[in-house]
Amino acid sequence: MNFNEFGFDPKLVEGIEALGYELATPVQELAIPAILQGRDLIASAQTGTGKTAAFLLPVIQMILRSIPTQRIKALVIVPTRELAVQIDQHMEGLSYFTSVSSIPVYGGTDGSTYTREKQALQEGVDIVICTPGRMISHINQGYVDFSGLQFLILDEADRMLDMGFYDDIMKIISYIPVKRQNLLFAATLPDEIRTLTQKVLKDPEEISLAISKPVEKVLQLAYSVYDTQKIPLLKFLLQSMKLQSVLIFCSTKSSTKQLSKELKKLGLSIEEIHSDLDQEARETALRNFKSRDITILVATDILSRGIDVDNIDMVINYDVPNDGEDYIHRIGRTARAEASGIAITFINPKEQRKFLTIEELLEKPVHKAIVPVQFGEGPEYNPAKHRQGGGYRKFKRGMNN
Ligand code: AMP
Repeated sequence: MNFNEFGFDPKLVEGIEALGYELATPVQELAIPAILQGRDLIASAQTGTGKTAAFLLPVIQMILRSIPTQRIKALVIVPTRELAVQIDQHMEGLSYFTSVSSIPVYGGTDGSTYTREKQALQEGVDIVICTPGRMISHINQGYVDFSGLQFLILDEADRMLDMGFYDDIMKIISYIPVKRQNLLFAATLPDEIRTLTQKVLKDPEEISLAISKPVEKVLQLAYSVYDTQKIPLLKFLLQSMKLQSVLIFCSTKSSTKQLSKELKKLGLSIEEIHSDLDQEARETALRNFKSRDITILVATDILSRGIDVDNIDMVINYDVPNDGEDYIHRIGRTARAEASGIAITFINPKEQRKFLTIEELLEKPVHKAIVPVQFGEGPEYNPAKHRQGGGYRKFKRGMNN
């Protein structure tokens, strides 16, 4: 479907063209008309499907058509600072030729950023893209005027609930007008999301793009290894494959730091991202990785969702993700758009049960590669045998990121 068919303002179409979008993606084709009609919406769509523009475009269009005021008209709540920045950049591109303004509001930055956010919130900005905690801290100061709010957008809502943001979201909602249009985007729609939607949305239109499965183009491999074999094998893979862009995921920030230290010793071009770093350091690392100034980024799951980095050659799961959805999100960082990519997972004996659960979700086994002989024989992949100690445990991801 061509963007001309939505009846968008010519200035908005100019922004769409400047970004090089030619045809609407499936989620845009379904979501945009429903939003323009004023419907509440639940959309299950992953990052990479064009979901950000699917909500930004109709919201910008409706703001352009409304009577100009100095008040906040749309609030986008997201789980991470990185996603807030990314959506704001997307917004800047799409709205470039229009008068619609936006500001990202997220924690962890210095005092001057807080003052700038406060000023924008006081003076009035059209679209606010925020993380829950930071928004609440502004609301608590008493200067945020939501009386002109028309749109509430919850992006990556499933991730926000996993991170324990339910109460914060409900608190923010208690400050905004009851009469508004609600849009909720999530990669998956577990029962908790259903409860949230019943509370927050009214008679929503539902768009479901097939349950998330890894892109066929990703070549998935796994190595059954002992912990002591992980670093030597990783070094070997990184040095022998000559890749330009590698994202390595660790499940905890301590293992992220440890691994990053080990790899730096080898003189590899590497940076790390986890929640112990301040916002500026996180943004710099991500920017350097996106621009390919560095080859390797070691990260916690903070980066597994929502973040759009093109052309990653390889994703390595240094340890097995905590659940299948995380696995799918992590390996979805490679083979974006038309590119193909490789995803490699290291499985230690204790993680075999957990990996089997992931294979069950994928509905097929992941090919187990043989550990090169110089690193000694790896353990047999036999999840039934390793049942002990490998219990499948789902915990609040945000706490450990
Ligand atoms: P998202 O799923 O919103 O994170 O978008 C993923 C990527 O697709 C971003 O780099 C967008 O700029 C891009 N994108 C969004 N809509 C379109 C479109 N209609 N045509 C081409 N690229 C798009």
